[in-house]
Amino acid sequence: MGYSAKYITNLRHNGNLPEVLKITEWNAIERFHKSQINVFSPTANAKYLYQRWATNYFQVKVGILAADEDKDLCTCGEVETMWHLLGSCKANGLCEIRRRFSDRRIAMMQKIGIQASSIEAIVSMAELKSDDTYLDWNVSAQVDAVTQGNIETLEWLKASGGYHSNWFQRGPLRTGAIQKSRVVLGVDSRAAEKFALEWFASKRNEGDAIWKRRNDVKHGNSFKFGTQLGELKKELRDLIFERKAKGWDTEGYGTYAKMSRNEIIKCIAEYKDEIILEESRQRRIFDFFGPDRSEESNANGSDPAETARINTRITSRRLARQKLSRAASATRAVENTPLINSIFDASDSVGVESVVDLNASTQEANEIRKLFMNNCCIDEGEFDEEAEAQIGILTQALMLDAPADGEL
Ligand SMILES: [Zn+2]
Repeated sequence: MGYSAKYITNLRHNGNLPEVLKITEWNAIERFHKSQINVFSPTANAKYLYQRWATNYFQVKVGILAADEDKDLCTCGEVETMWHLLGSCKANGLCEIRRRFSDRRIAMMQKIGIQASSIEAIVSMAELKSDDTYLDWNVSAQVDAVTQGNIETLEWLKASGGYHSNWFQRGPLRTGAIQKSRVVLGVDSRAAEKFALEWFASKRNEGDAIWKRRNDVKHGNSFKFGTQLGELKKELRDLIFERKAKGWDTEGYGTYAKMSRNEIIKCIAEYKDEIILEESRQRRIFDFFGPDRSEESNANGSDPAETARINTRITSRRLARQKLSRAASATRAVENTPLINSIFDASDSVGVESVVDLNASTQEANEIRKLFMNNCCIDEGEFDEEAEAQIGILTQALMLDAPADGEL
């Protein structure tokens, strides 16, 4: 937990965050980090805990996106901060994602055996309102208005309000629930520990699903990127079993466990490619030795007609593959390249004294075109990548306690 303490106690960060160091149930977070249910990399977890997603707000703040033209806004028109996405945005199906996780948490609490009056308090303070958004615990009027449920549970929850970046609404629990588990939750401390771990895991997974959805919407990603991490892990696991059955080499379990989402996607693609290669090799062998051709005619691969047929099949498969990948990259190019005509619309020149004919090959027109190409041929998606890279460096420096410029 070294980096958490270093980050939080750093007074450059975030108002009253140093206070939470003492009043957070760290044990649950530590257990999450070490457990099988943690499917994220340490950096990804640190980004989530310390509010370091590459939101539009963040990108404007660090100067990656220009501070004008509403670049910091969400598609719904509000400023896109991390809390906005996690707690209050109603666009892009985020409500459904929240509802899915919230329902599961309520079922989890019932399964653990938390007393009904405590569940009532938790649901009214910490679960979804009827509009599928969360209360903002930093708005005291919203907190004060909640009165349903067990008094001790409510007091414990309400004491978690008012902390920077809605810390206690993102999964960490305030101390007290385990020490006073009988009073606060109506269960023994062991059940309370289980609750704390599962609560954090659920919030973490919900956050991940929300961030993935936001990125899918923003970048029009293919379904692959929208696939839930659990499904990806299952797919990878099946491929690993398949490789083992074939006697192919696999990595040690620890290597797979540490993989990030992108690494899992890459690994699945590599493994699938190898299987496809193997299958096509076997098909070629089958073509030579298979039952539907007479053995005499080409026993030595000497039947020119059969060899030609095989070669034709191989070539057409290869061409079909190339065609597919060309089509995919053409689609990407269209998506990523701004239309130069739309930028240089003649109507933009109204009121300008001397209009440069940008279709001409004068030096002036060339200069402007060059400037445009240098500055504009970058897809919005690349801004996020730049921000992600920057946040990655910051977050890793934080985990190593190395100095880093541009702290949030
Ligand atoms: Zn929004």
